[in-house]
Amino acid sequence: MRFRILLLVIAALSVRADIRDCGCDASKPETLDARNCSLCREALKQPADKDVFFLKDNNPTKPDRWLALPREHYSSTSPLAAMTPAERAGFWDAAIAKARDLWGDEWAIAMNGDLSRTQCHPHVHIGKLLPGNESDSGIFVASPEQIPVPPDGAGLWFHPQGSRLHVHEGAQINETVLMR
Ligand SMILES: [Zn+2]
Ligand SMILES: [Zn+2]
Repeated sequence: MRFRILLLVIAALSVRADIRDCGCDASKPETLDARNCSLCREALKQPADKDVFFLKDNNPTKPDRWLALPREHYSSTSPLAAMTPAERAGFWDAAIAKARDLWGDEWAIAMNGDLSRTQCHPHVHIGKLLPGNESDSGIFVASPEQIPVPPDGAGLWFHPQGSRLHVHEGAQINETVLMR
């Protein structure tokens, strides 16, 4: 019984640990002290002429990971849908260039869904694709501007296949396809 209560508490905490109640407001600096606003603080340090910036993942258990982030906040939920098509294409172009620099053709880029992000500022993960994740599901696109916006706050991951990109969308947790 006590174990069951503990499980309920853990479930409640993990439901709370998403980004649907973000309070990060750059015009009210005190709101940015919240733990889930730490990437917003990084975004505010970036020069205004930079639309996309990169951070090494600060989790010591993920030493080979990088993050790509838009400087602008857009929206904590469904941020890709809040970008214009041109902004989204620019964001993906920059993230892919960084991924290629790091991993040649072995890269993948993964974005977790709204229920599986704990940071309010939009961000995607860049890493080396782990073997065993490929499947026939997903769609092929010819260029970054054709990468779909996943519906309902879902995430996506994609990787190069020949001259095309193979996009797997719909899952909430996607960064696990990447080497830590
Ligand atoms: Zn932000
Ligand atoms: Zn694939």
